[in-house]
Amino acid sequence: MIIVLKNHADPHKVEGLIRSLKGQGLGIHRSDGTQSTIIGLVGDTSKLDIDALQANELVQTVKRVSEPYKLANRKFHQDDTVIEVGGAKFGGGNFSVIAGPCSVESEEQIVSVAKKVKASGAKLLRGGAFKPRTSPYAFRGLKAEGIELLLIAKKETGLPIVTELTSLNHLHLYNDVDIIQVGARNMQNFEMLSELGKCNKPILLKRGLSSTIEELLMSAEYIMSEGNERVILCERGIRTFETATRNTLDISAVPLLKQLTHLPVVVDPSHATGNASLIMPLSKTAVVAGADGLMIEVHPDPPHALCDGKQSIRPDRFDGIMDSVKALCRMEGKVL
Ligand code: PEP
Ligand code: MN
Repeated sequence: MIIVLKNHADPHKVEGLIRSLKGQGLGIHRSDGTQSTIIGLVGDTSKLDIDALQANELVQTVKRVSEPYKLANRKFHQDDTVIEVGGAKFGGGNFSVIAGPCSVESEEQIVSVAKKVKASGAKLLRGGAFKPRTSPYAFRGLKAEGIELLLIAKKETGLPIVTELTSLNHLHLYNDVDIIQVGARNMQNFEMLSELGKCNKPILLKRGLSSTIEELLMSAEYIMSEGNERVILCERGIRTFETATRNTLDISAVPLLKQLTHLPVVVDPSHATGNASLIMPLSKTAVVAGADGLMIEVHPDPPHALCDGKQSIRPDRFDGIMDSVKALCRMEGKVL
């Protein structure tokens, strides 16, 4: 981090500032110019309060030259983190597919989809029980009963389950859930992230609708800084000026995230596009871009789905996508 001091800053006060920075365990590189002084900080500046520094009367500007996230940073953890859950692996050359309906609707629906996606090669079952919806009048999920039905599907198929937590008040219902999903709308629910950092389960952290890559990594850092280092990042499209798709899949985020962090990255082409016909090409693109997995919405009868039917694919179509994904994974040297 570099601090540029104001012209003709009081030398006594500058000494005081330097003492306080040293007191925080930081090394100091000082350069005195004719007009102003520049202080280079060496060491872990992640815990430094940059706003307080900026507010200091002596300070002109403060510039970060390294990333504010440490635990998620590949610089400090070169090898890929591999997250394993119920036989599925993400990262380190392992690729896993999560599939299932947007929402759990009935036992028959979730169990039949689970059996079909498993037969096609999915390693985890998804399904929303508590649904964040834009309209309060839309179907908001079967809630606790939805989790019970997911557990029945898990028992019948052996597939681990992934479902979204929309409020910490419901956390006690998630004891047998294998991966807790933090939805796009909760990516910056910092209380939730900190609490999930204390739980012993992998977290699927979806990128916020309007969040930068750095903000996504800082949210992962929230979870990791409380002790839970098992975070899977999910690129699910961001909001842009384009209205032809539900969101815009930021495919460049995938290889970039793989450079910046050791955490696994999965792509959700369903929420990224809102369009069933785009799931196949974008799933293939995700593999080639270096993703560690996919999350795809699959429904037995999309026109009658209670949520996100337009972007959901039938199990037979999912089977065809899995054939292509498997072939591409082989070419890319990934284990699926
Ligand atoms: C979901 O995966 O069901 C979902 C609501 O996704 P997102 O949070 O990405 O909108
Ligand atoms: Mn959905």
